[in-house]
Amino acid sequence: MENLVQKLRAHRIAVTPQRLAVLASLEQRQDHPSAEKIYQEVRRQLPAISFNTVYKTLEVLCQKGLVTKVNPLHKVARYDGETGRHIHLVCRRCHGIADLPRQSEAFPSFTPEELHGFRVEYQSLTLWGLCPRCQEPENGKER
Ligand SMILES: [Zn+2]
Ligand SMILES: [Zn+2]
Repeated sequence: MENLVQKLRAHRIAVTPQRLAVLASLEQRQDHPSAEKIYQEVRRQLPAISFNTVYKTLEVLCQKGLVTKVNPLHKVARYDGETGRHIHLVCRRCHGIADLPRQSEAFPSFTPEELHGFRVEYQSLTLWGLCPRCQEPENGKER
């Protein structure tokens, strides 16, 4: 928790129990949860919290660069507490998103000239396909 308090302060975000709970929830899981999933989890700890507060908290954390929004499926935003460059494995059937450990060598490096002044803030690579569970024929139905 102390670590999270420092993280919020370093990003000039006022520390509140709600922000701590949302951030803690995101850092503990690797499944890139939706706002709804985070809400369900945080609510167990802070029963009075509203979905709207969770959603707004996520937006603040995103704006300040502590969290990134991953939305490869263009439906519901999913949130990622890991902001270093890494690779996402996205299952097109169950919409699972898993992280591969950082593999820097997989990322091309660009010279400032090649980037034409563009400032990179976040790098991710997405590999699309089917997770092991969804490759089994009996789980092959669209959900
Ligand atoms: Zn799957
Ligand atoms: Zn990720």
